[in-house]
Amino acid sequence: MRLLLVEDDPELGRRLRERLQGADFAVELATSRSDAEDWPDLDRMAAIILDLGLPDGDGLDLLRAWRNQRIDTPILILTARGSWQDKVEGLNAGADDFVVKPVRFEELLARLNALFRRQQGSGQSDIVAGGLSLDPIAKTVTLDGKLLSLSKQEFRLLHLFMRRAGQVMSQAEILDDLYVLDSERELNTVEVLVGRLRRKIGREKITTMRGMGYSFSK
Ligand code: CA
Repeated sequence: MRLLLVEDDPELGRRLRERLQGADFAVELATSRSDAEDWPDLDRMAAIILDLGLPDGDGLDLLRAWRNQRIDTPILILTARGSWQDKVEGLNAGADDFVVKPVRFEELLARLNALFRRQQGSGQSDIVAGGLSLDPIAKTVTLDGKLLSLSKQEFRLLHLFMRRAGQVMSQAEILDDLYVLDSERELNTVEVLVGRLRRKIGREKITTMRGMGYSFSK
């Protein structure tokens, strides 16, 4: 899952990115308001983590601008401003959650997972489709009730497919979501990975769309 982290403090940005990557997110880092404002593919991000005190402007204005542009990606504000007025203003401006620094990483992660759950429109974290049930927190998958043994990357790929069931995704798009490190990126690895996943979950679940990419059927 891809996240955009908007944070101008270099040390905090670096540390947070590392921890989020350790939790299997592909993290992109914007360090100023202008940097974040025109970030490509905002609506393909699983979530945005937004600092409010940015060197060239206020994160709240950025949030309002995104919501005005109908970008409905879940946004979690992560800020040192912690008064109740700040929280009310942030949530009313369109944030989905408001977290005050300093925060334990475990809490931030739990809040992100709660966001994803709400976005799916259910109280359950598990994603269910075509006999498969995926638990994004325990990182387990069952097929017809039987536990599957998947590698980390196979799991990430299946998670992406199940979140975007029915949509066609290009190999480049899959790469963006899948790989945390640039060094891991190579287009043909997607093909290999899809092949391995098909053998474990059943070929018919992933359709190859010639010249366009892949689609997971619900
Ligand atoms: Ca800041």
